[in-house]
Amino acid sequence: MGMKTPLVTEIAPDTYAINEFGMNAMFLCVGKERALLIDTGTGLCDLKGLVASLTELPYDVVLTHGHVDHAGGMDQFETVYIHEADMQRAKDLTYEERRHYAGSLHSMDKDGAFEVDPGQVRRWQNIPEMKPVSEGDVFDLGGRQLEVFFMPGHTAGSITLLDRKNRIHFSGDACNINTLCLDRPVAELKHTAERIKAMEDLFDQDFNGHLGYAGMPLITSQPKSVRDDVIAACEKALAGEEAEDVVFLGRPAKAMNSGRCRIVYRAESL
Ligand SMILES: [Zn+2]
Repeated sequence: MGMKTPLVTEIAPDTYAINEFGMNAMFLCVGKERALLIDTGTGLCDLKGLVASLTELPYDVVLTHGHVDHAGGMDQFETVYIHEADMQRAKDLTYEERRHYAGSLHSMDKDGAFEVDPGQVRRWQNIPEMKPVSEGDVFDLGGRQLEVFFMPGHTAGSITLLDRKNRIHFSGDACNINTLCLDRPVAELKHTAERIKAMEDLFDQDFNGHLGYAGMPLITSQPKSVRDDVIAACEKALAGEEAEDVVFLGRPAKAMNSGRCRIVYRAESL
């Protein structure tokens, strides 16, 4: 018997991680006057109802990027904020892609921690209004602000969010132990990882968008070494060091390891 509902964890005061069946993590930050939902998952659960059970405050929804496992549940909301460069990608997501993603992640859950049927993926009833968000924008929740940073590499429009007061960085998929860089140059990813590293004195915790991914034990803040390892992997790729050949989304790709991390990229896009 696995878990049938998303796992909600209070990771910091008034800050919740919502683990969508080992596929990804969404975050809810609650301030004095408003709340902010970061990402919407693949769309396997009543996320709107779940948020309502955690806060009565009005809230905004922001997407760290337009991938299926972050934007897939956006139809439950009237408006979402997303970087302009990822808007079309999010709009173009299909039911089949979302269902395929849920199926492939479900198959990675070898221990059966989560009892989820890809058939639970909800069909979109509507596409929400998309509002652009970019570097320097601030979500003011009352006594708590979340500041937007433009951090492309994983996608063209990836963003991260910094809560300076509570010293928390929400990094989406911009820089983690398995950073995919399949549409953008490796040099761009390296720049992003270096920027996050340069911000390290502004946060103590760095939560990526895949806490508890496929039952993996990484359910806490990422260690500092992740930034160093991703930068080192990018440097190795840019220097032309030999990488592992892998296939990603039906196309050949390269995987470069460094420390506990790996980056996956296209050989022709350094
Ligand atoms: Zn992603």
